[in-house]
Amino acid sequence: MNYEKRKTVIAGNWKMNKLPSETYDYIKEVASKTENAKCEVVACVPFVNLCAAVEAAKGTHVKIGAENLHFMPSGAFTGEVSAAMLKDLGVEYVIIGHSERRQYFAETDVTVNKKIAAALEAGLKPIVCVGELLEQREQGITKEIVSMQTKIAFAGIDKSAFSSIVIAYEPVWAIGTGKTATSDQAEEVCKIIRDVLCELYDEETAEGTTIQYGGSMNAKNAKELLEKYDVDGGLIGGASLRSDDFATIVKAAE
Ligand code: PEP
Repeated sequence: MNYEKRKTVIAGNWKMNKLPSETYDYIKEVASKTENAKCEVVACVPFVNLCAAVEAAKGTHVKIGAENLHFMPSGAFTGEVSAAMLKDLGVEYVIIGHSERRQYFAETDVTVNKKIAAALEAGLKPIVCVGELLEQREQGITKEIVSMQTKIAFAGIDKSAFSSIVIAYEPVWAIGTGKTATSDQAEEVCKIIRDVLCELYDEETAEGTTIQYGGSMNAKNAKELLEKYDVDGGLIGGASLRSDDFATIVKAAE
């Protein structure tokens, strides 16, 4: 982390967990347990939980995010939710390109790029996920994969947008598996992403962009991961569902 150059962001990704009726109290619990946080605290929740989450977060430091959006502004896309709809609800962040969306819902680098543009257009802050599969790591092509994902994701995106963009490096083999990348592996790939931003834009943009690590980050391993210079926070799945664990991770970001 480097507090002087960029914001540290700890974001929970609830995935398809917790009921709308549980959401208000849980967000209040997170807010009170992370009251003195020095970093940005975000909870990304299912669409149907957003109203309750936004309501509970009012007057607190907790920011609310969605887990997905559609890239079209409106129209005949049954079951989908647009960026403008999220913004209208009071949502601030949106996760884009999570590996589960890529794996189960056929999202590609190209749809990720369209979703980033749509989110920015509506005034939402995208948390853009990139990361390699286990086979790709074993083949020694992590750098190529993550660089390609980053380049396609940000094609046509102006550097002025980067004050609102967060990138999450999430090795797919570490998500929900209990297998965490070592802090050196996390640092190495976050640095690769930063170097790509430098190549695409400039050093100031690269150094100023928040790059999180995500993949089985928990109350025990967070501190070591977050101590790395290029790791500016975490995207937390499982551990974000337990407020004590999530609060411990927030604390580790200090
Ligand atoms: C995630 O969903 O982005 C994630 C990192 O999950 P977990 O922390 O459970 O591995």
